[in-house]
Amino acid sequence: MKQTCVICGDKASIWTRTKINDGFLCGSCVKQCSEHLNKFNTLSTDDIRRHLAYRKENLESERLQEFSETMSLGDYEIIRIDENNGYWLLETEKRLVHDNPDIFSFSQIQSVKMLSTKECLNKYDKINNGKKQRIPKRLRRKKNRSPVYGYWFYIIVTLDHPAFRELRIRVNKYIINEKNRISYRQALGTAVNIKNKLRELAEKSRNTEETTEKTEVENND
Ligand SMILES: [Zn+2]
Repeated sequence: MKQTCVICGDKASIWTRTKINDGFLCGSCVKQCSEHLNKFNTLSTDDIRRHLAYRKENLESERLQEFSETMSLGDYEIIRIDENNGYWLLETEKRLVHDNPDIFSFSQIQSVKMLSTKECLNKYDKINNGKKQRIPKRLRRKKNRSPVYGYWFYIIVTLDHPAFRELRIRVNKYIINEKNRISYRQALGTAVNIKNKLRELAEKSRNTEETTEKTEVENND
């Protein structure tokens, strides 16, 4: 059966289409979506329409036109910061369209947390992510060999934003073997630095807003 895109009505080719919960998106409509949009299969046609309306607003916004980078953070996914205007954006490898990055303001940040997850790099027997798996014999861990872990670092930013409640910033490009202490310390250092800097800028923007509100109140007296 031929499938058409729920947004533009074009043919949604089996090679480029993306499944959403009530139909398909064609490749070119997916390209209009943000790189930070995940879990398309949980989104409806209405969700995508709202998202694309937001994307159009973002593209035409003053924020985007005014954006001028003064600082960047991160080694893999890059946070670009405009300190003068109080804006920031996140650049990832998933980005498809380069002229419309989602612009956030520091005052939209509600919390910043660091998260690290670990995976066993040499254990392939029985359980992975809490699920039992059938593993080929050659991959099963040899008895008495102790597990070696690898680490991922993330920064989780919760937002007061029309399109995103949470952004997950990946710090390291490749999983870090715990035996590689230098890489581990480096990634941890980068993660802590990103967390502290984002918190600091969010805090600063809140203080500025409060001062502005106070001044307005005082002026009314
Ligand atoms: Zn389409």
